[in-house]
Amino acid sequence: MQLKKIKLFGFKSFAESTTLEFNEGITAIVGPNGCGKSNIADAFRWVLGEQSAKSMRGHKMNDVIFAGTSTRKALNFAEVAIVLDNSDKTLPIEYTEVAVMRRLHRSGESEYFINGHQVRLKDIHSLLLDSGMGKDAYSIFEQGKIDQVINYTPLERRYIFEEASGILRFLQRKREALRKLEQSDQNLMRVKDIHLEVEKQIIVLEQQAEKARLFKEHKQQLEILEKGIFVIKYDNLQHRCQEIFKKEETQKLLHAEMLTTIEEMKKELQAAKAIQEESELDLRKQQEKLYQTQSEKEIKRREKTFLSRAFKRNGYKRKALAARTGKYVRKTADATS
Ligand code: ATP
Repeated sequence: MQLKKIKLFGFKSFAESTTLEFNEGITAIVGPNGCGKSNIADAFRWVLGEQSAKSMRGHKMNDVIFAGTSTRKALNFAEVAIVLDNSDKTLPIEYTEVAVMRRLHRSGESEYFINGHQVRLKDIHSLLLDSGMGKDAYSIFEQGKIDQVINYTPLERRYIFEEASGILRFLQRKREALRKLEQSDQNLMRVKDIHLEVEKQIIVLEQQAEKARLFKEHKQQLEILEKGIFVIKYDNLQHRCQEIFKKEETQKLLHAEMLTTIEEMKKELQAAKAIQEESELDLRKQQEKLYQTQSEKEIKRREKTFLSRAFKRNGYKRKALAARTGKYVRKTADATS
């Protein structure tokens, strides 16, 4: 595996797109102080996944984006890509040329790519594991790093040797396997706990199942008994219904009879009314006659009274006349004699 080139755009002092080719042998980058040599080393670690802004010699990760100068505007993203020759298949990937790229936007959004395909940072780590190219690997020794390695603790130094010897991948796998084993142990313990819990639940469930079975049995019996009761009740009700129907029929007949009687009585009543009206008419006539008779009687009585008074008066007159006649007769007789 060999580093073929690094391409920078918007990374720190590299405002222009800059590509550095690395041919076989040694490539040296020289320049005056502050021209950006260390920025290239930073770009290597950055594209390989460095997450510490401090180790990028900044306060925050956005500081790696070109901040602008008095004559040039700041950029909104930084992009670094390295191209590796993988014809010896050092990296566990099919391609003979591998391009790893990282892009950071001012918004804080980070993107990683392997051969143009967006990937996770984790994928880049696992691709470069044991290749000696990790961000903490021995392949990058920036300013002051040699002193740092000498001053490393044995444990930290061991990490560099392990990476160089290529056992890091296996150690990591071992760690992973141990972690999984530990997790499996914990899972097993949990399963045992669950098993115990389930066993307890099984006893409770068995008791509940027995209760449920008894309940079902009793329910079936209850259903049979209830059906029997319903049948009996149904028979009784039907019997009562028939009786009620019979009574109803009798009542209907009675009702019809009563209606006939009422009709007859109505007719009789009408006839009686007619007779009564007739009688009343008769009575009125009789009364009228009576009134007439009474008034005739009264007239006769009055006539009689009148006549008797007239008779009396006539009697007196006749007597007077008779007396006068007698007188006259006697006078006449006297006269003639
Ligand atoms: P020395 O030889 O002294 O170590 P050097 O060549 O390694 O110097 P660097 O430290 O790589 O130089 O580069 C420092 C330069 O990069 C500074 O001029 C600084 O202004 C510039 N620089 C760093 N970050 C940015 C940024 N975000 N935007 C623009 N310029 C930046």
